[in-house]
Amino acid sequence: MKKLVLATQNRFKIEELKSFLRNTDLEILTLNDFPYTPALIEDGLTFQENALEKARQVYRMTRITALADDSGLEVFYLNGRPGVLSARYSGEDATDDRNNEKLLAEMRGVAPRRRRCQFRAVLALVSGSYEELSEGFCLGRLTESPRGTNGFGYDPIFLPDGFSRTYAELTSAEKNQISHRARAYEKMDKIIHQKLHLGKEKP
Ligand code: IMP
Repeated sequence: MKKLVLATQNRFKIEELKSFLRNTDLEILTLNDFPYTPALIEDGLTFQENALEKARQVYRMTRITALADDSGLEVFYLNGRPGVLSARYSGEDATDDRNNEKLLAEMRGVAPRRRRCQFRAVLALVSGSYEELSEGFCLGRLTESPRGTNGFGYDPIFLPDGFSRTYAELTSAEKNQISHRARAYEKMDKIIHQKLHLGKEKP
């Protein structure tokens, strides 16, 4: 069976990506299958650079086709912040709660119509002979306070367009229908099938 390794240490991203890949004839590995791999470096200025860099590092270490995700939340009122700094927005000791608190504090008093934002995900597929990228977005707006307990990151403060529940109040199946990562994966699915010479998708 052909193999694909997920170039991420984030268990929530792993779960989401595995669910998108569940119908493919692929053995899905993660970095947990390679316990001695060092932490991935991501010091690029764009999601594209970071996704490519993570996939390249993991391909170099494993020699198995690698799929990486780089993603984040872009708030238009803040000129796209936190953006590529989403994971570390509140500093070196950042946690999801602190990141959410910092962002909500910056946005305190800002009217609902100016709280528009988008999640963006870039996926990179890297092997010895090719590098492929895909991108997905999910538009929405920031809530005034956190709501819901599912998911991770900024999920509790993001209200996707067309929903009255935050990402963290959606089930994982609902989030996986509409999320930025799901939309990036929709495009990557075709590329994975072509590049890895997989048969047609199973129902
Ligand atoms: P990365 O590992 O550098 O790509 O960091 C991505 C960061 O963006 C995460 O730590 C979260 O803070 C945020 N993020 C990306 N995707 C999601 C999502 O689906 N829900 C909530 N936060 C996300």
